[in-house]
Amino acid sequence: MIGVIAATASGRTAAATLAAAWPGEVRVLADERPADALREAWRTCDAVVSFLAVGATVRVLAPLLGHKTGDPAVVCVDESMSFAVAVLGGHHGANLLARRLTGVLGTQPVITTASDGANVSALDSYGRDLGFTVHNPDLLAHVGAAVLSGEPVLLDGADGWPLPPLPPNVAPDAEDATTGILITDRAELSCMCHDGWFGNRLVYRPPSLVVGVGSARGVPAAEVGELIDRTLAEAGVAPESVRCVATIDLKADEQGILDAAAERGWNVVTYPAGTLSAVEVPNPSEVVEAEVGTPSVAEASALHAAREFGRAAELVAPKRKSANATCAVARLTPRGRLAVVGLGPGARDLLTPRAEEALRRASVIVGLDQYVDQVRDLVRPGTRVLESGLGQEEERARTAVEEAARGRAVALIGSGDAGVYAMASPALEFAGADIDVDGVPGITAAVAASNLLGAPLGHDHAYISLSDLHTPWEVIERRVRAAAEGDFTVCFYNPRSRARDWQLPAALKILAAHRPPDTPVGFVRNATRPDQNATLTTLADVDPADVDMFTVVLVGSSRSRAVAGRFVTPRGYRWA
Ligand code: SAH
Repeated sequence: MIGVIAATASGRTAAATLAAAWPGEVRVLADERPADALREAWRTCDAVVSFLAVGATVRVLAPLLGHKTGDPAVVCVDESMSFAVAVLGGHHGANLLARRLTGVLGTQPVITTASDGANVSALDSYGRDLGFTVHNPDLLAHVGAAVLSGEPVLLDGADGWPLPPLPPNVAPDAEDATTGILITDRAELSCMCHDGWFGNRLVYRPPSLVVGVGSARGVPAAEVGELIDRTLAEAGVAPESVRCVATIDLKADEQGILDAAAERGWNVVTYPAGTLSAVEVPNPSEVVEAEVGTPSVAEASALHAAREFGRAAELVAPKRKSANATCAVARLTPRGRLAVVGLGPGARDLLTPRAEEALRRASVIVGLDQYVDQVRDLVRPGTRVLESGLGQEEERARTAVEEAARGRAVALIGSGDAGVYAMASPALEFAGADIDVDGVPGITAAVAASNLLGAPLGHDHAYISLSDLHTPWEVIERRVRAAAEGDFTVCFYNPRSRARDWQLPAALKILAAHRPPDTPVGFVRNATRPDQNATLTTLADVDPADVDMFTVVLVGSSRSRAVAGRFVTPRGYRWA
């Protein structure tokens, strides 16, 4: 919940605007005394938007400040709605909130946290979207400063997790490092470090463990809890790394299991007996099988859940028993991530915020060199960029998938939308179920061009690539003919290159046989790029020599017309 405090008329108007824009998310705190309302918001909300001056806000909150990991995020907005200043908890929601406010209030976000300025991943939120937690937050500032100042920082345990990049001074082989970052689910930390080392090592707990539990009906929560704690301790793994408790469907309402999990802040997932009986386990039991239909509950559910969340799993604690319960712990091998990212047609403001975020989130970027050039300034320090030249599509696709299969966070980039005549299909032809794939849509060349020309795509249309590199000409020709007969507006991609110069005239000839000579033809070269050029002509007058491989060509249906110099295809619900 976002608490909103205002003291002036314009503040109150803006507060009401926010409440209307983000229903259910905003609570406007009205009090005679804004300071009291602010204190109340601090106590009861996750975030605060204060329409009071930064100074006034800080004076009220200063005595209440605890640790940044637990305090609410605070953003102050000035009286003229010019700036939204992330004052407290920048990496705990304030930066994001300050940016979100732009959309509603038109304010400019003011962000002062160091890592954002340096385009470096913030350690506070490093791996948070994967479920990482910080074990020793007191070291965040110290290690964060080392990361930013370029000092050598030892990185341990990151391999296999699809994490965002850290700058090159943070590395597994950093020499003479006196600070470090360790990612581990092992309970014991000192054994991995040299003497005197651990004091400076920031430790992250990854969500790598699943606790499998079985029990008799009516088992007490205390017994389940003690068994879980003991099993984790004996296996030498950290409770902070437990992702969830897993059991059989039959136990979905077993209060002792639910309570023991809830006390520890864990969710419970359950599976049918049939699913669990298919899992191979070291300690099956015939008695259990006769009772519930699977020879293992604890081991099988731990392994099965870990495989669902990851790409593989191993048991780190085989089954242990108490009088009425069983417990086992599995560790998962994380799944890598492949983001397939469309960069849009060229202009930076047509690159979506989500695509930009996907580029920052990736530790490996794979793409054609000219597309990498389009976004090079957004690439964070430490990101591996694997760029290659024209024509190596299959190799690029394979590289991207292989990097993701190794557990990395990969962005495979393409112009326009990466799924339209681009990299998504070759990549997904190789990709297995062992990686997560996230498609990030982009604005296509066709959409960019049609907006420049008018409204050519207002009714049914067909996209046809005229490149016969991957498709035989007979097939292309058949499709052009079908589009001609179906009276579709047609958008030609890859219309013409130096070596392929006869296909476009041939295609236009087919269309001309089915629609009037004054049918509009629009072509746009380098849409939204600095040397953009849009031309509107007709089927009778079009000169294919004006077209090259940086162009899309749009040919109207028999209903399309030029209106005031714009290409318009009517919607068609008033068909005469
Ligand atoms: N994925 C891209 C298409 C890549 S195929 C998309 O979604 O738009 C390459 C072809 O796209 C080029 O030959 C050209 O026909 C077209 N194209 C790509 N970018 C363009 C732009 N900015 N202006 C005009 N045509 C473009």
